Amino acid sequence: MKVKEQLLTLSPYKPGKPIEEVKKEYGLREVIKLASNENPYGCSPNVKAAIEAELENMALYPDGYAAVLREKLAKHLQVNEKQLIFGNGSDEVIQVICRALLSPDTNTVMATPTFSQYRHNAIIEGAEIREVPLIDGDHDLQGMLGAIDENTRVVWVCTPNNPTGTYVNEDTLISFLDKVPTSVLVVLDEAYYEYVSAPDFPESVPLLEKYPNLMILRTFSKAYGLASLRVGYGIANEEFLQQIEPAREPFNTNRIAQAAAYAALGDQEFIKSCKQLNNEGLQQFYEFCQQHQLSYYPSETNFILIDFNRPGDEVFQYLLERGVIVRSGNALGFPTSVRITVGSKQQNEKIISLLEQYIQ
Ligand SMILES: *Cc1c(COP(=O)(O)O)cnc(C)c1O
Repeated sequence: MKVKEQLLTLSPYKPGKPIEEVKKEYGLREVIKLASNENPYGCSPNVKAAIEAELENMALYPDGYAAVLREKLAKHLQVNEKQLIFGNGSDEVIQVICRALLSPDTNTVMATPTFSQYRHNAIIEGAEIREVPLIDGDHDLQGMLGAIDENTRVVWVCTPNNPTGTYVNEDTLISFLDKVPTSVLVVLDEAYYEYVSAPDFPESVPLLEKYPNLMILRTFSKAYGLASLRVGYGIANEEFLQQIEPAREPFNTNRIAQAAAYAALGDQEFIKSCKQLNNEGLQQFYEFCQQHQLSYYPSETNFILIDFNRPGDEVFQYLLERGVIVRSGNALGFPTSVRITVGSKQQNEKIISLLEQYIQ
């Protein structure tokens, strides 16, 4: 058999290590996972009942159009229902975009380091990847504009960016959108939107009216705490979404996920409280970094990238053996850093005290 040549250059996504595996491997009773930017407070308490009610319908295919969730989300975002596309996680929306727009004679522009799935899916489609290095953790939008040519189909802007936690402010974004040719899709990946506090973070949804080549990605996996159920979505121009729809699997979001996302969306108090607690958690890490003169990027997300000035793999391993799973920056393009998900106050205290012992 002969698979696409470009697949041979890729390796499967390496997720954060699972808790059970670490418990077994190191004989630990308690392990905390601060590796995949999951919500330490779980999800809204309303979700459980919504899932239980849906269990009666397991024999029936889900609504491929996700009409009930769609209507609620469209109201919440104040957009037209047809401006939404749902995915099995926003990961799948990224895949649909690549499937629909990229082919071997095209190219796609993105930052580096950034979220790995843009590059991964674009490579599978055979497109040329144009990576523009971050400057001080920020997107170099000027450089990205310079990388665009007549064969460019998609430009990816991850804001706040994973793994740095930095964001593109409103003025910078607008002047960028003004310069991108309208034939090029700009994907704004806002997976951490609900955590953002910066006053100059752009409100992107109203920009869709002025920029028909803009698409926003958001997800129920992070602040909404539904990572296991896989629901993400894109918000974009209606005619454009109609064109890419055939590249989406017909039943890509399942019943339980749709019902859970609907219930989660209805509980904005939960999101508000998670955001508040997350900001307090970020402060714990900022203080730790300042006390020990470690450099970090101020974060608008629920994670923080800290530079330990030594191999990130070593810090990762030290923490792993003591029951805390994080992500080494090594695989994320920051070899001397570690990316830590902000946990609960107690979890943050635990990891900070382990790190204090480590750097002594
Ligand atoms: C987590 C994450 C996603 C993927 O989220 P899912 O909806 O769970 O697929 C997309 N983009 C960024 C930047 C992320 O960090």
